Amino acid sequence: MTPEFKPDRSLAELEARFSRDLELLTLPPAKDWLEPRSHSKYGPVLDMAIVGAGMAGLAAAFALKCLAVRSLKVFDRAPEGLEGPWVTTARMETLRSPPELTGPAFGFSSLTFRAWFEAQFGAAAWTALYRIPRPQWMDYLRWYRRMIDVPIENEIELIDLGSEDEIVVLTLRSARATQTVAARRVVLATGRDGVGGPYTPDMFRRLDRRIIIHSMEQIDFSKLRGKTVGVLGAGSTATDSAAEALEAGAARVAMLVRRPDVPRINKNMGIGSAGFWTGFYRLTDAQKFAIIDYIDEQAVPPPRNSMLRCTRHENFSLLADCDPRAVAVRDGRVLLDTTRGRLAFDTLILATGLAVDWSQRPELAALKPHVVLWRDRFAPAGRADYAQAEHPYLGPAFEFVARDRGASWVNRIHCFNHAANMSHGPISGDIPAISIGAERLAQGVAGALFADDYDLTWRRLSGWSNPELRGDEYTLDEDAGRFFAEQPADMKT
Ligand SMILES: Cc1cc2nc3c(=O)[nH]c(=O)nc-3n(C[C@H](O)[C@H](O)[C@H](O)COP(=O)(O)OP(=O)(O)OC[C@H]3O[C@@H](n4cnc5c(N)ncnc54)[C@H](O)[C@@H]3O)c2cc1C
Repeated sequence: MTPEFKPDRSLAELEARFSRDLELLTLPPAKDWLEPRSHSKYGPVLDMAIVGAGMAGLAAAFALKCLAVRSLKVFDRAPEGLEGPWVTTARMETLRSPPELTGPAFGFSSLTFRAWFEAQFGAAAWTALYRIPRPQWMDYLRWYRRMIDVPIENEIELIDLGSEDEIVVLTLRSARATQTVAARRVVLATGRDGVGGPYTPDMFRRLDRRIIIHSMEQIDFSKLRGKTVGVLGAGSTATDSAAEALEAGAARVAMLVRRPDVPRINKNMGIGSAGFWTGFYRLTDAQKFAIIDYIDEQAVPPPRNSMLRCTRHENFSLLADCDPRAVAVRDGRVLLDTTRGRLAFDTLILATGLAVDWSQRPELAALKPHVVLWRDRFAPAGRADYAQAEHPYLGPAFEFVARDRGASWVNRIHCFNHAANMSHGPISGDIPAISIGAERLAQGVAGALFADDYDLTWRRLSGWSNPELRGDEYTLDEDAGRFFAEQPADMKT
C-alpha cells in the first residue's frame, strides 16, 4: 500500500527537505575540477558570468553550480526581487501556464512551485488553484533564488562585451561605478527582449510618445481615466493592456485586430512535449524554420481569462479586420486611417510585441558584426526575406557562432534568451522547458571549460600520486617455484 503523502507544513520544512535532497545527491559536488584564473589587467577571471537573474539566469546558475562551476556570478540591472516582467511590465492577472509545470525545478520535487505553494497554503488550496496569480510567481522566483544560493549582484547593467587573450571582458555599469569583469564564458539570460526590444511599426515611429505608447513600456493607467483608448494587437499583451485601461476607468477601449478574428488556437500547446524540447535542435534548418514560422504566423491567442477580463466591461470593443494604413497626431489625439474607417483615440497602445532587433541592444554592438545569423545560413524558398532572419544561428550549447576565425571569442558567449528559439526551440525562457534548456547550457559550458583545460587535466593526471593501496596489505612472493609445471611441447619458446 502506498503511504499517504503529507505536504510539508511550512516553508522551513520544505527548505530542510531541499537541503536533504542536495545532501543525498551530493550536490554541489565537493570535488573541484576548475582552477582559479587571473588576468594581468583584469584581475580574477570568473569561469562564468551570467547576465540576467530572471528565471533563465537563475536556472542556468543552479545547473552550473550542480556541476561544481563555482567561480560564477550573476548580474542584473533590475533591483533585487524585480527581475523580469512579472511585477514590472506584465499586466495579466494570472500566468497562462498551468501551475503543475515544474519550470526551473530540475527534477527536485522540493523546488517546484507546487511544493512551495502547498507548504504555505496547503493541499486543498492547491486543488482549488486554477492559474498562478502573476505576483505570486515572482514570490516563488524570489524564494527559488534564495534556495539555489548563487552569487548575484543587482542594479548593475552590462553595457559592452569584448575580448582579450581568450577571455571575454564585460563592461558593467552601476550607480557607483563602471567596471570591467573578465570571464571565461558568458551567458546572456536577458529575457524575451534580450536581443531586441519592442516592435514598433514604421508608421508610428517619431510620433508623440506620450499618446502613442508601446505596451512594453511602463504605463500609468490612472492617466487613462475618462479617455478613449485604442489598443493595437490581438495577443495577450493587447488584452491585458485593454483590461488595465478599462479597470482604470477609461471611457471606451477598442482593441484593433488586423486579422478577420482573434487567433483562438495556441499551436505551442499542441506541440510542446519532451520530444519537441529535447529534439528540436536536431531538426534541419528548413524544418526548424517551418515550425517556428508557422507558429509565429498563426499567432498565439490571448488566454481566455484575459479576454473575459475585457469583455465584462460594456465599454470594450473588439474591431477585427482593422488594419491601420496611416496615422497622424492632431490636437493631442491619434487619428488612424484603417480598413474599418477613420478612428480617433486619446491614447493608442501598441501591443505589437517584441522583435529581435540588435539596434536596440547597444551592449551587443561589438558582438553583432562577428556572429552568424540565420540569414547567413538559411534562405527559405520563394521568400526574399523572413522575420527570423536576424536571429542568431547558435551552436549546440547556445553559443554564438563566429563569422570568421579571428572572432572565436564569440563562441564563449551563450545566448540563453528568446532569440535562441529559432535554433533550439522554446527552451530558453518559457516555463515548461527551462530546466531542459539550462541543463543543456550547463553541460555544454562545463564540457567546453574542461576541453579548454586539457593541459591542466594532463598535469593532474600525471601528477596524481595518492595511493589507494599503502603496500602494507600484501607482500610480494619471491618464490614462484610452487607453481612450476612441465612445459607442453607445443608451448616451447
Ligand atoms: C507579459 C509576459 C507574460 C508571460 N507569461 C508567461 C507564462 O504564463 N508562461 C510562460 O511559460 N512564459 C511566459 N512568459 C515568457 C517567459 O516566461 C518570460 O518572458 C520570462 O520572464 C523569461 O525569463 P527570463 O529569465 O528568460 O527573462 P526575464 O525574466 O525577462 O529576465 C531577464 C533579466 O535580464 C536582465 N537584463 C536584461 N538586459 C540586461 C543587461 N544589459 N544588463 C543586466 N541585466 C540585464 C533584466 O533586468 C531581467 O531581469 C511571459 C512573458 C511576458 C513578457
